[in-house]
Amino acid sequence: MTNINCRFVLVETSHPGNIGAAARAMKNMGLTDLALVSPCEYKTYECYARASGADELIDSAIVYPDLASAVADSHVVIGTSARRRSLNWPQLSPREAAATAAGMTEQGKTSIVFGRERSGLTNEELALCASLLIIPTVEGFSSLNVAAAVQVVAYEIQCAALATEFNEIKPEDLPADQADLELFYGHLFSVMEKVGYHDPSNPRLMLPRMRRLFNRSAPSRPELQLLRGFLSAVEKKK
Ligand code: SAH
Repeated sequence: MTNINCRFVLVETSHPGNIGAAARAMKNMGLTDLALVSPCEYKTYECYARASGADELIDSAIVYPDLASAVADSHVVIGTSARRRSLNWPQLSPREAAATAAGMTEQGKTSIVFGRERSGLTNEELALCASLLIIPTVEGFSSLNVAAAVQVVAYEIQCAALATEFNEIKPEDLPADQADLELFYGHLFSVMEKVGYHDPSNPRLMLPRMRRLFNRSAPSRPELQLLRGFLSAVEKKK
């Protein structure tokens, strides 16, 4: 699993339960770097109850006096907001922000900053952020609970991390080469003819359609062997 070097910074969170729920949301998505900027008294029963097993994130969270010190070692800082602050502020969707974070794995840390439950982030805090992440919502009711916002962003980061991983095709999943594919089609078409499903004197579009079907699924070599095993069994029965 690709490790994404990403810190979530919660600024002046006032409900311990939200810190617990944010920690859980992060851990679900493989993120562990939680930073808190002047939080409330947060190590409460409610916090750990909502963390629901993500206790180590709570215990290892570093508390900073202000946002500047929380993001001092970050290479990219992205603020989050329920509303557009200014028209010319560079804006990112959660997916774009996640792609940025996933692309930074080797080079350095991305910090994503979440604001206060009531008032969000101040303009001074936003000035420390290179861009603004806005989770799309319906108009007129755009403010998510802060832990819910953490969940959405963490999910997108996990998807971006998985996409990086899934792009590396395992050797056994590699699509079979054309030569193997032609051998399979030869076998398939001859069995279709033998069982009377295909009449070579009246071919219509049967064979090109079969080709299109199998080409679309890009079968691997082991998958072609599976299909040819089945065709051989049909031939034997015949
Ligand atoms: N009235 C505040 C709402 C704060 S909600 C405001 O307008 O900013 C608490 C935090 O949750 C926000 O600071 C932000 O970090 C996050 N959040 C809530 N809704 C969001 C959304 N639609 N997009 C991005 N972040 C959001």
